[in-house]
Amino acid sequence: KNRVYSFGDKKTDGNSEMKNLLGGKGANLAEMSKLGIPVPPGFTITTEVCTEYNDLGRDAVIGLLQEDVAKSVENIEKSMGTSFGDNENPLLLSVRSGARVSMPGMMDTVLNLGLNDDSVLGLAKKTDNERFAWDSYRRFIQMYGSVVLGMKPETKEDEDPFEEIIDHLKEKRHIQHDTQFTIQDLQDLVYDFKDAVKKRTGHDFPTDPWDQLWGAIIAVFNSWNGDRAKYYRKINGIPADWGTAVNVQAMVFGNMGDSSATGVCFTRDAATGANEFNGEYLVNAQGEDVVAGVRTPQQITHLGSIRWAQLAQIDEEERLKDYPSLEEIMPELYAELFGYQELLEKHYRDMQDMEFTIQDGKLWILQTRNGKRTGAAMVKIGMDLLKEGLLDEKEALMKIEPNKLDELLHPVFDPKALKRAHVIAQGLPASPGAATGQIVFFADEANKFKNAILVRMETSPEDLEGMNLAKGILTARGGMTSHAAVVARGMGKCCVSGVGALKISYKKRTLTVDGKVYHEGDWISLNGSTGNVFEGKVATIQPELAGEFAEIMALSDKFMTMEVRANADTPKDAKVARSFGATGIGLARTEHMFFEMDRIKAMREMILASTVKGRKAALEELLPMQRKDFEEMFEAMQGLPVTVRLLDPPLHEFVPHQLATQKELAEDLHISLEAVKSKVAELEEFNPMLGHRGCRLGNTYPEITEMQARAIIEAALNLKAKGIVSKPEIMVPLVGTVSEYVEQEKIIRETAETVFKEYEDTLEFKIGTMIEVPRAALMAEEIAKRAEFFSFGTNDLTQMTFGYSRDDASKFLPVYLEKGILPADPFEVLDQNGVGQLVKMGTNRGRETNSKLKVGICGEHGGEPTSVEFCYKTGINYVSCSPFRVPIARVAAAQAAI
Ligand code: ADP
Ligand code: MG
Ligand code: MG
Repeated sequence: KNRVYSFGDKKTDGNSEMKNLLGGKGANLAEMSKLGIPVPPGFTITTEVCTEYNDLGRDAVIGLLQEDVAKSVENIEKSMGTSFGDNENPLLLSVRSGARVSMPGMMDTVLNLGLNDDSVLGLAKKTDNERFAWDSYRRFIQMYGSVVLGMKPETKEDEDPFEEIIDHLKEKRHIQHDTQFTIQDLQDLVYDFKDAVKKRTGHDFPTDPWDQLWGAIIAVFNSWNGDRAKYYRKINGIPADWGTAVNVQAMVFGNMGDSSATGVCFTRDAATGANEFNGEYLVNAQGEDVVAGVRTPQQITHLGSIRWAQLAQIDEEERLKDYPSLEEIMPELYAELFGYQELLEKHYRDMQDMEFTIQDGKLWILQTRNGKRTGAAMVKIGMDLLKEGLLDEKEALMKIEPNKLDELLHPVFDPKALKRAHVIAQGLPASPGAATGQIVFFADEANKFKNAILVRMETSPEDLEGMNLAKGILTARGGMTSHAAVVARGMGKCCVSGVGALKISYKKRTLTVDGKVYHEGDWISLNGSTGNVFEGKVATIQPELAGEFAEIMALSDKFMTMEVRANADTPKDAKVARSFGATGIGLARTEHMFFEMDRIKAMREMILASTVKGRKAALEELLPMQRKDFEEMFEAMQGLPVTVRLLDPPLHEFVPHQLATQKELAEDLHISLEAVKSKVAELEEFNPMLGHRGCRLGNTYPEITEMQARAIIEAALNLKAKGIVSKPEIMVPLVGTVSEYVEQEKIIRETAETVFKEYEDTLEFKIGTMIEVPRAALMAEEIAKRAEFFSFGTNDLTQMTFGYSRDDASKFLPVYLEKGILPADPFEVLDQNGVGQLVKMGTNRGRETNSKLKVGICGEHGGEPTSVEFCYKTGINYVSCSPFRVPIARVAAAQAAI
C-alpha cells in the first residue's frame, strides 16, 4: 500500500482525480506539477494514514511512514539542492493539512520547519539576508508553538501568547509594523518565544528537524479532530472518517525583501461572479499574513486597486506610494500569474482560488482549488461558463449547489429605506447581502440576540460557529480575501470587512466611529454589496429573480421529469410558489385557516357543541369562510392542481388553555366556565400525536369532512361559473386502514353529488390519501384500489417509523448527531434506508393495484436535495415543499434526472 505520493518538477505520482486519497490540496499540487506550473516540490501523506493514525496511534504510524518519508525528503533535497537538517545549507519545509474538500483555515499549517539556533545562521549566511532568516525563525517558533505545542490564548479576552510578546516589543520600540523590527528585535523575539514555550509547556523547544517534522505531521492529523474542524464538518455534512492528508513541501519565501511577496487570487469575482481576475497580496510577507488581516493587503490588478482606493478613500498619490497593484510594480510576474490563472480555470473548468508566493523575483504557485463563492456568484459563473463553451448545459446545471440558491431568495435593503439610512462607515463589500442586527463582540456570544452582527478586529477559524449564527459580520481589519470575507462568502452571509474607521474595545465592549460610541446590543445594518455600515435598522424587501437565476430555472425545467409542487396554506403563499415555478400545491393545510381571529370562535363553538345539531350549526358558520379560502387558493393557482388536506390536528389545539381566555369563551358562547373547563379537560390527550386527529376526527365527526368537502367543491364550481379552471385534489390524512379511507371517501363523494345537483353542474376532482402511518405503506395495495393518489407525509412517517416524537426529539437528537448514533437529523434529511423503504414499498405496492396512481411527497424532505434525488429514483411523480424551496427542489430534480 502506497502511503506517500511525491509531487514536483522531477517526479509526480498523483493527479487531480485522487482527491479522496490525497486530499484536495495534495491532488491539485500534483496536477499543477504535471501541468508544468512552478510548484515547490514535496509529498503527500494519504488520508488513509490519518485513519490508521486514529486506530494505531503515533508511534506505530511513524514506524509505517519512516522509510517512505525519508525517501521523499531526499527527492525534495535533490530538487532544491539543499539538505534537511543541514546547518550550512538547510532545506526548510512547510507542513500543510488538506482534506478531500477544502476546509479553509480549519486545520493547521506549519511553515519554515527545520530551523534551529544553528541552521538559522546557515540560512542567513547562504541568503546573505540575516533579517529574513531571523524573521523566518521567529515565525516558525510562533506557528509550531501554537499548532504543535498548544500555545494558544487561555481565555477569549487573552491575546495570543506570542502576539502579546510582539505587541510588547512594538510598544517598547515605538513601532507599528512587523516589518520595522531590527535583526536584534527578531533575535529577542526568538529568545522570548522559546522562553514562553518552556514556561508554559515545561519542555525546551525541539531543535532536531526530524523531531520537528514528525511533531508537525502528527499535529495535522490531530487537527482533523479539533473543535474547529469538527464544527465545520458538522455544518457542511462532511463525514469524520474521511480524514485529512498531510502535505510536506519545500518552503519558498515571500519574506526575503522587497522583491518577494505572497498573495491570494481568484479567477473570477467570488462575490458577484463577474469574470474579473482579482486578488490581494503583500510585499515581504509570508503565509497567512494576507488572510489574517494584520497588514492592509494590496490589490493584484490595477483596476482592482483603483476601485479599492475609492472605497478606502485614499487618493491616487497615496495609493501609488503605499498600495500599488502587483500589475504596476511587478508587471512581468503579474503577466505570468495571469497566464496561470487562465490556464488553471480552463483546465478545471471552474473558478479557481489560488495562492502564490514570489521569492526574490520568482513566482511559485502554492495552491489552487475551486473557489468558494456566494449563491449569486455560483449562478452567474455557472451560466457564464456555459456561454463561454467551457461547460455544456448538463455540466453547468450540475455545478449548482441547490441549497445555495437559498441565498438569492433572501431579502435585500429597500432602496427607499437606503436613501434615508445614515451611513456611519465604509468598508469593503466582502460578501453581499443585507443584514440588520444587534452588536456582539465575541463569536461565542452571537446567540445573545436573535439577530446579531458580529463585530471583530478580524475573525479567526475559532469564530466559525458564531459567524454562522450571526446575521452579518463586520471587521475593522482585513481585505477581500481575509478569513472573515472568505468564510462569509462560503456561508452566504453578509460581510463588510476592513473598515479602518472602527475602533473596537473588547474589554469595554464598545465600537467607536468618528467619536460616536456604540455598545453591545445597539442596532446596526450592513450592506455587503456596497460595504456601507448604517446606524440602526434598515427595512428590507424581497429580491427580484431575473437574469441568470431565471436561466438556471429554465435549464432545470428542460431536464427535470419529476414535478415540483409547493406546500402552501394561503393564497399569498400560493402566489409566491407559482412565481418560483411550482406546478401545483402538494399540500394545503386547512387547519391554519381556522386559527384566524374571526374563525377560531366558530371553530370553538363547533368543538364545544354537545350535539350533532349544535356542531352542524357552527360548521354552517365556517363553511363560507373556508369556501372563500379555497376560491382564492384555486384562483391563485390558475388551473394547476391543488391538494387540500382535510382537518388534521387534534381538537384540543383549538381550545383555550388559559383561565382568562376560557372565561372569555364561556361568556361569548353563553355557557358556564365549568362547561368550558370540562370540555378542555376531556380533550386533553396523553399523546396527541398518536391521538384523536386526522381521519380519526373525520370518522368520529363526519360533519366536519362533509363541510370541508362542500367548501372545496362549491369553491371550484363558483370559479367555474366565472370561467376559471381549478383542479381540486381532496386528501384524507392519517389513514392506517382501508376502511378509514373508504368511510371518508364515501362522505366526500356523496357531498359532491349533492352539491352538483344543487349547482346543476359538475366538475372533475380527485380523492386520495396521505401515507404517513407505517401501516398505510404496508397496506398500500388495498388502499390504492380506492385512492387516486398517495402523498407521503414524510414528517409523520418519520416520526412514527422511528418512534421519535418530533416535539420532544430536541432532547436527544443533538446528542445522537454529536455521537454519530444518527448520521443526520431524519426530520431534515429523509432516512432513505429505513423510512425510505416504506416510501418505496408504498409506491410500488400501490401501483400494483392501481397503475394510474399518482404519488408525491409533502414532508419537509420535499425541498432537501438528497431526498429529492431519492424520490426521483423511487419513481415518485412530484415532490412538494415550502414555496421558498421550490427553486432548490427544481434544480435538485433536474440534477437527479441528469
Ligand atoms: P490552508 O489550508 O488553511 O489554506 P495552507 O496549507 O494553504 O493552509 O497554508 C497556509 C499558507 O501558508 C498558504 O496560504 C501559504 O501562503 C503558506 N505556505 C504553505 N506552504 C508554503 C510553502 N511551501 N512555501 C511558502 N509558503 C507556504
Ligand atoms: Mg491555503
Ligand atoms: Mg401528517
